[in-house]
Amino acid sequence: MADLPFYGHFIDGAEVRSLDGAEMSSVDPWTREAWAAVALGGKADADRAVAAARTAFDEGPWPRMSFAERGAILHRLADLIEEHADELGLADTRDMGKPITQSRGNDVPRSAQNFRFFADHARLSVGEVLPMGEQLHTYTAFPPAGVVAAIAPWNFPLMLESWKVAPALAWGNTVVLKPAEDTPVSATILARLAHEAGMPAGVFNVVHGYGPDSAGQALTENPDVDRITFTGESSTGRTIARAGAANLVPASLELGGKGANLVFADADLGNAVDWSIRAIFSNAGQVCLAGSRLYVERSVYDEFLTRFVAAAEAMVVGDPKDPATQFGPLASETHFEKVRSYVESVELAGGKIRTGGVGEGWVVRPTVAVDLPEDAKHVREEIFGPLVRITPFDSEAEVVHAANDTPYGLNAMVFTENLGRAHRVSARLKAGTVWVNCFFVRDLRAPFGGVGDSGMGREGGNFSREFFTEPKAVVMQL
Ligand code: NAD
Repeated sequence: MADLPFYGHFIDGAEVRSLDGAEMSSVDPWTREAWAAVALGGKADADRAVAAARTAFDEGPWPRMSFAERGAILHRLADLIEEHADELGLADTRDMGKPITQSRGNDVPRSAQNFRFFADHARLSVGEVLPMGEQLHTYTAFPPAGVVAAIAPWNFPLMLESWKVAPALAWGNTVVLKPAEDTPVSATILARLAHEAGMPAGVFNVVHGYGPDSAGQALTENPDVDRITFTGESSTGRTIARAGAANLVPASLELGGKGANLVFADADLGNAVDWSIRAIFSNAGQVCLAGSRLYVERSVYDEFLTRFVAAAEAMVVGDPKDPATQFGPLASETHFEKVRSYVESVELAGGKIRTGGVGEGWVVRPTVAVDLPEDAKHVREEIFGPLVRITPFDSEAEVVHAANDTPYGLNAMVFTENLGRAHRVSARLKAGTVWVNCFFVRDLRAPFGGVGDSGMGREGGNFSREFFTEPKAVVMQL
């Protein structure tokens, strides 16, 4: 790995190697070759990072700064993220194969926006004064929780990391981030930029490594950690919830999904096709919010399917570094093999593939399956790839029942021009977020999280404040 660029951990204000010198490589899923060498951390490295974060929290200036001072540093960091957008965008694209127009064009600006939003939200946030009588009142305060362990997945590396790190820092916590092992590079760049922005040593640390028996597990079990914020698979979420419970540490869990997408006959069909394509095929379907179960009212089913298949076939598949590319490879060989096994078992399960299938390298093309029964594993399990199952429905009651018949409950989409139906169906869907006539539009003040196997807790706006602080009541008799 001698000739590859090296990305270290970032601990206590400096970029460092692992204590035992271990390294791993990051593979570019388009070229299928290693493109970066990265420090491979273990328990000792994670413990060192937590110790640095603990000292910075207990003794350093960060938790004691005013919101305005902290906010100024976070805004500087946002500026630096934008100045380094090419480098950050390319890092995520090479690490996991997402088109550069998405990483550079969407994820990087949204990461900068996350830092700006949470800095401002914390600064402008108000507490309550609860008058209890002439000489007695209670007021609320929101001191930081302490050391936050943030564990992130590989599908939106920088963007999801900033979604956790930004509110944690804005509220005065110190952080140890463990990015996913497949997408480590942008996190090290982010830490370099935070340092450049003037963040004190030990406030934002990054430790690389795997999950089980590695840096990830060590972080979740460290008794000096006060909060765990995790995004990833539901099964990992269960393991992390147990680790948090052992130390009585609150864990916020943003987990898997199997989004239902309901298209009623009264919908604007062009709009429904456009959003539905994006909902399942952007990021090659590697999106927790993917609309992978698509239900279309029978009277418009044939027309919708024809238009949807044409739009899927029109997607430009290719090198994710090319700005013309809309659809790249899957993130890793292991993940490609997983998605491939779902695609290749569609017919065995009674379905038909209308378009798509396995492509060159680690590409699975935008794939549309029909005629799959409701109990097929393709309909039940999170595939996390570009395979959508489309099926017709006849009534509102029937489709709401089908949409809710899943252990997941992260999000759902409803396409209709009937306002009454939009409200009624949104109310009945078991989901943390319902999008009506759109997808992926976010207001960062809104709660974000899932029901059932999709997670525990909410983040966003005041919900992030609740999680990353120790809300306190001060009762005063004067
Ligand atoms: P994953 O659970 O395999 O890994 C996520 C992170 O957890 C990685 O950093 C990994 O190293 C770490 N990890 C794994 N085991 C661990 C353990 N025992 N202790 C501590 N850390 C551990 O998930 P993934 O494959 O990286 O991501 C894909 C999953 O994430 C999908 O299920 C997707 O739906 C979900 N996701 C959810 C959201 C959301 O907001 N709800 C967003 C994006 C992705």
